[in-house]
Amino acid sequence: MKALVYKGPGNKVWTDKPKPELQKPTDAIIRISKTTICGTDLHILKGDVPEVVDGRILGHEGVGIVEAVGNGVQQFHVGDRVLISCITSCGKCESCKKGMYSHCEDGGWILGHLIDGTQAEYVRIPYADNSLYPLPAGVDEEALVMLSDILPTGFEIGVLKGNVQPGSTVAIVGAGPVGLAALLTAQFFSPAEIIMIDLDDNRLEVARKFGATQTVNSADGKAAEQVLGLTNQQGVDVAIEAVGISPTFAICQDIVKAGGHIANVGVHGKSVELHLEKLWTHNITLTTGLVDTNSTPMLLKTVTSGKLEPNKLITHRFDLADVLKAYEVFGNAAKENALKVILSQG
Ligand code: NAD
Ligand code: ZN
Ligand code: ZN
Repeated sequence: MKALVYKGPGNKVWTDKPKPELQKPTDAIIRISKTTICGTDLHILKGDVPEVVDGRILGHEGVGIVEAVGNGVQQFHVGDRVLISCITSCGKCESCKKGMYSHCEDGGWILGHLIDGTQAEYVRIPYADNSLYPLPAGVDEEALVMLSDILPTGFEIGVLKGNVQPGSTVAIVGAGPVGLAALLTAQFFSPAEIIMIDLDDNRLEVARKFGATQTVNSADGKAAEQVLGLTNQQGVDVAIEAVGISPTFAICQDIVKAGGHIANVGVHGKSVELHLEKLWTHNITLTTGLVDTNSTPMLLKTVTSGKLEPNKLITHRFDLADVLKAYEVFGNAAKENALKVILSQG
């Protein structure tokens, strides 16, 4: 089969790899119908995630059709259409019992990281019963690809950990797919204000269409001053970091209100400065985390009912075989006006 293979920092190839086979009774093999590229894949290609070895197939999002199941799989059968979670979970270990699937003893974020991923014609999914979800009939498959990772990430690590409440003032730094997923799902709680911060005016315009009440372009280095200006010098109840670099984490520290929350979502390749000398008197809460995807069943219902419309995040479509072109577009998102790209296999 063909797959997108990581070849060390800066390098990737679309090449032949052996079709995956069942290794354990709890495995399933999925034929990918649709997959996508994540900001985290770009971090891997920058060399920010050194556990990813040369030869690894990238990708941790997608929907597909069950091609084969081990004899221990009970919930899924050959031919079922399924959503692949970016998090693999056994459902039985201590972390899984707490719903903290990201720390499953034998799973967590392994797809396209520690085992081969979804940017391929076929993928092996361990613990299929817990790591796949049946696709509801009649729902747009492309929209559901957004549920593999970005929607649960924005919601769980941004909105829930940030404790967004009715009437909250929220700032989201980074209007990429993850920041926009936080913007969409924050609105479940009716915050009073959502201020979106990015360098890219196109993404900020998209954010306004998706419900941002204010937008700030941080290219002049004065985002914090602008947010303070918009909030009567008070700052925000919730500052969500959805970029993964030191300057954007710094903005969050500068704009969080006394008693507020900083919810870090970004994947950081380097250490950041934490200004405790200022924050200690501010009674703030700082959270971070890897997505658990335990909100996926709830989010599936909101997409099925049309309350949440994640297909709004899709800007480009390619054949799976054109994945290198798709990386070009996603990697130059500002120039290409790109958000999520969909890769399809007919
Ligand atoms: P992305 O690269 O598409 O978006 C990042 C956005 O940040 C872009 O719109 C960019 O213009 C903006 N940006 C860059 N520098 C900025 C600056 N100085 N000021 C303001 N904005 C700036 O990435 P994404 O797919 O939206 O993902 C966002 C982050 O979330 C990434 O770090 C990704 O790795 C991470 N992530 C975390 C988890 C998790 O479990 N915690 C899961 C998935 C993704
Ligand atoms: Zn991801
Ligand atoms: Zn587990």
